Amino acid sequence: MLPVAARGPGDEDLSIDIAWLGARDARRILLHVSGVHGVEAYAGSAAQLSLLNTPPAIPPDGALVLVHALNPYGMAWLRRTNEHNVDLNRNFLPDTATWAGAPPLYRRLDRLLNPPSPPTRDGFGLRLAMRGLRHGFHAMRQAIAHGQHRYPRGLFYGGAELQPGPRQFCDWLQRRLTSADSVFAIDMHTGLGPHGGSTLIVEPGINAATTAELEAAVAQALIGSAAIPAAYSVRGSLGAALPRLLPGVDLKFVLQEIGTGSSLHVLQALRDENRWHHYGEAHLDHPAKRQIREALCPASPAWRSAAVAHGSDLVYRAADWLFRKKYT
Ligand SMILES: [Zn+2]
Repeated sequence: MLPVAARGPGDEDLSIDIAWLGARDARRILLHVSGVHGVEAYAGSAAQLSLLNTPPAIPPDGALVLVHALNPYGMAWLRRTNEHNVDLNRNFLPDTATWAGAPPLYRRLDRLLNPPSPPTRDGFGLRLAMRGLRHGFHAMRQAIAHGQHRYPRGLFYGGAELQPGPRQFCDWLQRRLTSADSVFAIDMHTGLGPHGGSTLIVEPGINAATTAELEAAVAQALIGSAAIPAAYSVRGSLGAALPRLLPGVDLKFVLQEIGTGSSLHVLQALRDENRWHHYGEAHLDHPAKRQIREALCPASPAWRSAAVAHGSDLVYRAADWLFRKKYT
């Protein structure tokens, strides 16, 4: 357990919880992370509970490591970001990185994305579409979601330094995975891709395996983060930090997205919740909070079953591949 200083809505303690199944000094590790984006943790958490009930077969030199809610504050408060409004999947930068600036197009969109007032019906969808026509939809999506360090109350804020939760997690990884020589890491998210579907995304420069090898391992096509219109490349992701944190390790990394609704619907929910958090009363009993929960963890039982099935299925496939042969 890695405690964080932030408190929950009932003043409760919050922590990143880690379950380690298998050898303490495992050489092959299957690492599953949920809740980098707070409110997205519900689906990942449910998949992890299912895996605790029925874990894959783990060899004597292997371990399955479940990291529950890397952003426990966001999970408890129904926020994508942490206690400092930081999007943790834009925060895993080296200390020497430039923690400043924003894409030029984001700067032009700031007033539309981040109005300093409580949420209202202000025609956001239409106004965004007009801007998309002017700037190009792909360029706009990329500029919004890339990550920015200029507007601390804005969406997709990457922070001014590595956040306490990620710092603890990075220290923990480097301390605990010293005997690992092969790691398959999965970072589970929601909100991108077709409703109830699983999209697997790889970022360039992380994987020791080729895309074809990874696709064979997980028996599903992989998508480069810049290759599809609905996705985007980001700066400061957890995946990009792993080779730096685990040098010399044979590393595989896949980001799994379980789709919910349209990108506009998700962005609208993020925007309303962000306004409510900073300029409203921020409590949980508000439509903006219900909207973001529905946008990132839909109440539909069919969606929830699909999310758990996709989440655990990917772990079984990764386990089959990582643990498939006796290690020498
Ligand atoms: Zn996410």
